[in-house]
Amino acid sequence: MGGISITGATKRGFRAYTLSNYKEIPQIQNFTQEQQEDIGIAARIFPFRVNNYVIDELINWDNVPNDPMFRLTFPNKDMLLPPHYKEMKHLLHTAASEEEVQQAIHKIRLTLNPHPAGQLDKNVPELNGKVLEGMQHKYNETVLFFPTQGQTCHTFCTFCFRWAQFTGMKDLKFASREIETLVSYLQEHPEVKDVLFTGGDPMTMSANLLKRYIEPILEADIRTIENIRIGTKSLSYWPQRFVSDKDSEDILSLFSNVTDHNKHMAIMGHFNHPVELTTDTVKEAIKNIRATGAQIRTQSPLIAHINDDPVIWEQMWREQVRLGCIPYYMFMVRNTGANHYFDTPISKAWEIFQEAYQNVSGLARTVRGPSMSTDPGKINVLGTQEINGEKVFVLEFLQGRDCRWVRKPFFAKYSPTASWLTDLEPAFGKEKFFFENTSTI
Ligand code: SF4
Repeated sequence: MGGISITGATKRGFRAYTLSNYKEIPQIQNFTQEQQEDIGIAARIFPFRVNNYVIDELINWDNVPNDPMFRLTFPNKDMLLPPHYKEMKHLLHTAASEEEVQQAIHKIRLTLNPHPAGQLDKNVPELNGKVLEGMQHKYNETVLFFPTQGQTCHTFCTFCFRWAQFTGMKDLKFASREIETLVSYLQEHPEVKDVLFTGGDPMTMSANLLKRYIEPILEADIRTIENIRIGTKSLSYWPQRFVSDKDSEDILSLFSNVTDHNKHMAIMGHFNHPVELTTDTVKEAIKNIRATGAQIRTQSPLIAHINDDPVIWEQMWREQVRLGCIPYYMFMVRNTGANHYFDTPISKAWEIFQEAYQNVSGLARTVRGPSMSTDPGKINVLGTQEINGEKVFVLEFLQGRDCRWVRKPFFAKYSPTASWLTDLEPAFGKEKFFFENTSTI
């Protein structure tokens, strides 16, 4: 493959640590007993999995516990509300049975809005009267597909809005291996232009599995499909996927195959912090992907304790552009899981976005945000204004359940503490937002 280098920059194999073996991590052995236990308590509620690349190359252990990559990957005590932490600690210190502990865990998880934005029961398409599990079709032009084998990640993010999928709340998990059904659905829906493979992280699948999902779409020659997208955090958490894994060359050939079929191969790369862009392996991975004709677009939520600083975003966007990636989205953290710990008020998020945006070149100003992925659609915060003496947020839909809502500015009363659409009220004395007549939030 011309231009692609497979040098095996990092030869060490993948090793994951979870609740069952995290105390074997050498750096964790330097923690006090209580610090170790607190990780374990939080990891009982939230998913926890971290790999050796993140531990050895991304976390600065001299800066722990405040290190952003440590906060991003190791659950911590403050992610639990105090009564939940107390309850769990008490149960684990008494002779409570595993069943009692599991019941308490389940009860706590149910209080954390485990399935936000109506994902469980809404947006699931049908074909010939049959519900297509493992797919979502919310916006006209894009279908999301959740391959069964791609419902895990190389490392779990502590803030992840899909945390419920990873914690064994099985009734909330949805995935599909029915690629034939997807192909038939795409053939019947010419309005769909993009198929987005998502998870978990589809790049945890082998090249062979990934091919089984993508090649049938290419072979079916569906002219209306223009773009194949893969949402992944593997460039941050295991860039070896595109460099030195035993099937790296096959992965890259698959991407080339998509572009050879005159379709755009779009990697939706999830980066939360500039440190994830610093290793030789990630740089080589980006180079290899780009050599296939694929493009990498980057996105991240704004996460308190991890990247809630304009300088971090400025550095991240500049470095992404320098490496040939396209900054795409700054999201607001969703109203689920430990969002009391991770969320940022809309007013502060907008200030961070604006300050970072003002300091980057036009090439990085492809980025949009801060954006909330809500039930009615993706709502972008354009800023604040004072109109007729009332301070307001100016908002717009970037995507809407009804495409006629897109790019139509609307207004909400300013609030210094609101961090999600559900915290906002319409401005100018109106009772409802314009879209609330046809949708619920
Ligand atoms: S990589 Fe993506 S899906 Fe996986 S835990 Fe992180 S945010 Fe969630």
